[in-house]
Order: sequence, then C-alpha cells, then structure tokens
Amino acid sequence: MKACIRRGSNQIGGSAVEIIADNQQRLIIDIGLPLDAEENTADLLPQIKGLKEKSSDLLGILISHAHQDHYALGLHIDKHIPVYMGRISAKILEVSAQHNLPQAFCFKNIMTFNNQQSFQVGAFKITPYLTDHSAYDSYSFLIEADGKRLFYSGDFRAHGRKSKLFESLIKNPPQDIDILLLEGSCLGRKQSGKYETETALEAKFLNTLKCSKGLCLVQTSSQNIDRIVTIYRACKKSNRSLVISGYTGHILQCLGNSKIPNFTWSDVKKLSVKAAKKHEITIKTIEKEPEKYTILLCGYIFKMLKESPILNPKTTFIYSMWEGYKEEYQEKLNLMKDKGIKMIDIHTSGHADIPSLKRFASALNPKHLVPIHTFYPQEFKELFDNVVIYKDNQIFAI
Ligand SMILES: [Zn+2]
Ligand SMILES: [Zn+2]
Repeated sequence: MKACIRRGSNQIGGSAVEIIADNQQRLIIDIGLPLDAEENTADLLPQIKGLKEKSSDLLGILISHAHQDHYALGLHIDKHIPVYMGRISAKILEVSAQHNLPQAFCFKNIMTFNNQQSFQVGAFKITPYLTDHSAYDSYSFLIEADGKRLFYSGDFRAHGRKSKLFESLIKNPPQDIDILLLEGSCLGRKQSGKYETETALEAKFLNTLKCSKGLCLVQTSSQNIDRIVTIYRACKKSNRSLVISGYTGHILQCLGNSKIPNFTWSDVKKLSVKAAKKHEITIKTIEKEPEKYTILLCGYIFKMLKESPILNPKTTFIYSMWEGYKEEYQEKLNLMKDKGIKMIDIHTSGHADIPSLKRFASALNPKHLVPIHTFYPQEFKELFDNVVIYKDNQIFAI
C-alpha cells in the first residue's frame, strides 16, 4: 500500500489523501475546500486521476465529517464516484442544501457506514471510528490493505461532549498501526495547554445568562451540536427558553436523537413573523420579557432583529466561535457595539489540545506518524516519536 497527502500537509483544511493499493486500486479520504479559497471552483481539485471523469481504479471517496474543509470540493467530482460517509453527515448536508447554505450540496452516489463496522471496498478494508469533534457524526478511519494498516485521525478532540469516544479509543486502540496521519490544528496556537471542556463552558454560559438582565444573543454555528447542547443546558438552568431559526431546528431534527434539543421541547422556540404554531414565537413576545430568552443568532434572525428595540444596552451578546471567523461577522459585531450591547467571548476549540494529541499518539503507537491538517508540521518532531514529514503530492510507501 502507498499513500499521498494531496492537500493538507502544511495547512489546516482542504484535506485530501490518496491511498493506493498494490493492485493499483485507489481510495481518497476527504475532498475538502481550502480555508483560504475565495470561491469553490473545479480548478482547486487536487491532482488525483479520475475525480472529474471516473476511472475504474478509483473506488471511492471517504468523507470524515461534514465540515467544508473536508467535503466541499466534492461539488466538482464525477457523480458516479461512490462517496462513503456517516448517515447523519449526509442528512446534515441535505438539510443545509435545502436551506441554500453556502457550500452545501448533496453527493449523488452516497454509501453510508456505521461506527466500527468494517466494510470492504476492493483491496481496502475500512473501519470508521466515531470521534469527538465540533461536527456531529465525525469519524477517524482505519484502512487496511496488502498487510498494512493506516489510521487517519480526521479532526478530533478530547474535551467535547463525546469525550468518552476518545477515552475508549485510547483504552482499546487499534494495534500494529504502520502509519498514523495525525491532525495538528492546535500547533502554533497561542494557548498550548489543556483546552476548556464543553462542561466548563456550560458553567460560563450559565453565569452569563444568570447575570444578564435582558435578552442574550449567541453567535455560534447551527451545526455545532455540542455547543447548542451546552447553551440549551445553561438556558434551562437559568430559566430561559432557547430561540432558534427554522434552519437550526431542521438540523437538530435531522439528527434523529431525542436527547438533543428540538421543537417538541416546550423551552425550544422558533423565531417567526407570526406565532401560528405552538413552538413559534415572535419578536414582540420576546420584547415583553427579554430576560426569559436566549437567541441563537444566524443570518436570518439577525435580519429580523436588526431594527428591533430589543437590541439595547440591557442585551448581552456572546461570541461562541473561533476568533478567526470574527472578520465574517464584522457587520453584526459593529452593530452590537453601536447599540451599547455588552459583548463577551465564550468558546473552546473543536480540535484536540497538545496533551490529548500526545495521549492519542502514544496509545496508537504507530511505526510512523505523519502530520496533516496543520500549519506547523515541523513542530510535530518536538512533540511525538517516529515523525516523518511528507509534502503535498509526495507518494510514500507504507
Ligand atoms: Zn478540518
Ligand atoms: Zn472539522
């Protein structure tokens, strides 16, 4: 077996790895859009034969999770190429496409897999491992072929609401790993120690919601389910209802998980122009008792609230996303500032901190560890054993 990082050896995002079996059959893991891409265009596709016009030796593409830096260049692939992904990830893409979200589309030839149920694709035996990440339904992959074993970590962390998945993998790691492709998003970031857990964040949210005398607004991703659960739990404990958009509600519903907040719960509401249904609420109603609500602020809701007197100095705005996205939300942030709204940041990373990466690497104990999804591949050598650095498009034998 051979492998080649087509993109991602020295950047976060745009991940694409090609795996080549001795019989020349090939498999791709992820087909992401680079984070710095201005547009999603076909000329950004990595140099892999058979992406635009299917060739019989390209058996398929595995998608680790529904973040655009892992799937979005798939927009340009030949529609006959089989795409293997988690069932819920496929649903999240479907719902996002229905709501016309940027970079959302449905793959044409989807095959879904289940956690830790191995399946064979030509020469490759694939075992997906459900993992803890800020995207729901995220996976690592064990790929076996020609007597060799490659493990692709995908994006993961150990401090989210599914940290048990990380702990159980560490406890029972796959054995005899020849190559571990390990993500290193956190390398080079200011904060180098342990990251705050979602549970610790819940306490921070609770404190803020309790102290606020007015409406609370939270800017977060509708697809960061861990965070929505964190916010909901803080709302519940501070006697606030959570108000979301129809799109966020649709995402939560598509997960099919009765433990996740949804519109059948009396304290989860949809912000609407008219409150025709039981779970719908209008701005007018919120204006009467703003201290009883927390609103998740998506683009649609922002438009509805913009002219409302509810944006006043009694309101609190919580930014709960990666700092790097602040540029995108500048209009919102400026408006909040102009209205005299109190602004705070409450966030923790979707990616593993260095102590967790170290635990992960030592549990998997690979013959070689290869950096991916990082701006600092060289720093891996200071942190881990048996590191080998490969550049994009460099084919290496396993
Ligand atoms: Zn990523
Ligand atoms: Zn991700």
